[in-house]
Amino acid sequence: MSGRQATADVVVIGAGVLGAATAYELARRGLRTAVVERGAPGREGSGTTAGNLHVQAVHTRRPGQAVPLDSRRFLPLQKAASERWSDLEADLEADLEVRRAGGFTVAETEGQVAELKAKSAWEAAEGIPSELLYGPAAHTALPALGPTVRAVNWCPLDGYANPLLATRAYLAAAGRLGARLLPFSPVTALARHGSGWRTTIPGGTLDSAAVIDVAGPWLDAVAALAGVRLRMTPVAIQMHATVRAPVVLRHLVQHIGEGLSVKQVTAGNVLIGGGWPAGGLDLAGRSRTSTHSLAGNVAQAVRVLPSLARLRLLRMWAGPLAATPDEMPLIGEVPGERGLYVAGGTYAFTFAPLWGETLAALVAGERPPVAVADLGPHRLMRPEPPRPDPPRPDPARPEQPRSDRPDRPDTPGPAPREPVDDTSGR
Ligand SMILES: Cc1cc2nc3c(=O)[nH]c(=O)nc-3n(C[C@H](O)[C@H](O)[C@H](O)COP(=O)(O)OP(=O)(O)OC[C@H]3O[C@@H](n4cnc5c(N)ncnc54)[C@H](O)[C@@H]3O)c2cc1C
Repeated sequence: MSGRQATADVVVIGAGVLGAATAYELARRGLRTAVVERGAPGREGSGTTAGNLHVQAVHTRRPGQAVPLDSRRFLPLQKAASERWSDLEADLEADLEVRRAGGFTVAETEGQVAELKAKSAWEAAEGIPSELLYGPAAHTALPALGPTVRAVNWCPLDGYANPLLATRAYLAAAGRLGARLLPFSPVTALARHGSGWRTTIPGGTLDSAAVIDVAGPWLDAVAALAGVRLRMTPVAIQMHATVRAPVVLRHLVQHIGEGLSVKQVTAGNVLIGGGWPAGGLDLAGRSRTSTHSLAGNVAQAVRVLPSLARLRLLRMWAGPLAATPDEMPLIGEVPGERGLYVAGGTYAFTFAPLWGETLAALVAGERPPVAVADLGPHRLMRPEPPRPDPPRPDPARPEQPRSDRPDRPDTPGPAPREPVDDTSGR
């Protein structure tokens, strides 16, 4: 948009992997799509993510997480996402360094072994291939495992992709189909306009029938511009990378009872993560890393895979993500706000192709590829504060003519809203 006013069928707010995937799916349906991005695309959650493709049930509590994730509800979504990652490189005509070499989830205690058994049964019921291996069989399957590991669950579909390539490839493919990307265009206002929406960015406005808020950790702050408040919690977590090394690990390794994920990426670095909290969330700049999390996460990785102790650590970084209070994904149209859609939550990298397709289907009035009615924003909407009671006439004072009451509007104004979260960075 070169200033002033422009139109589109759909405006997508945020050019992380979710916004990019959604733009691609919308453009594939022939919808005129504009993606507006506050800064450079793919720099926030999608530029700092571990990039794991989680197909087997994940650890249900990342460090600091209040509510455990509902694995059984998650699994059909993980399976559907997995299917979409299989064809993605061909669809986007790009190398995303997708590696599906399978993954092990380890258990070190009796309780964790019982959890592995339960999750393996749920996976089998869902049609996700998984295999439990105990004691020596586990160590034969993955000789790098340390002596504390009692059992593993193997899933051949787990993997990872290079997140720095994925968002870029989605945006390029969307662009080839006619989608417009407007980087360095922070949305400053979002309001109803006729039967659709008006999105304001520096230099102009965009009018569209639908708006999709996929602003990641800023999702709530963007929704608040339209008067919608959602109970989302932005958090920052951190990652650690070793120097490049010859191949020491071909699979993704996770832990059933603790936040841990380890893999060796195509370039040779071993990435260690698992949702350990960063030192501080900074949505206006770069979140700080924590040496406490560094020590805890790396010690855990070395306990599970002792040979990692030989590799030097190269760097660590922190990135922000948007967590929902129930740890389940958020996706759907905002009740009472026709044409305004939101999507986000944890594991959004794994889910990006699925959520892109789902959002495009919802906007186009098609049946979504998976049932998402229970994942909508209805469950996260914060009630507007109650309107103050209208002033009662004081029987001791006669009613004054309206013209004498300039400070009292004839009709009550909009109910006061909670202030926009001051961690929003705007
Ligand atoms: C360290 C880390 C590790 C992770 N590991 C995994 C993993 O292994 N597997 C997995 O599935 N998930 C993982 N996640 C989660 C997942 O990667 C992220 O949640 C996902 O990438 C978020 O994508 P997104 O597009 O929703 O948000 P983001 O990538 O954060 O993008 C949101 C975009 O919105 C833009 N924006 C904000 N406000 C405005 C505005 N007012 N106007 C315009 N644009 C705006 C931002 O600038 C940003 O670019 C991880 C996350 C982190 C941080």
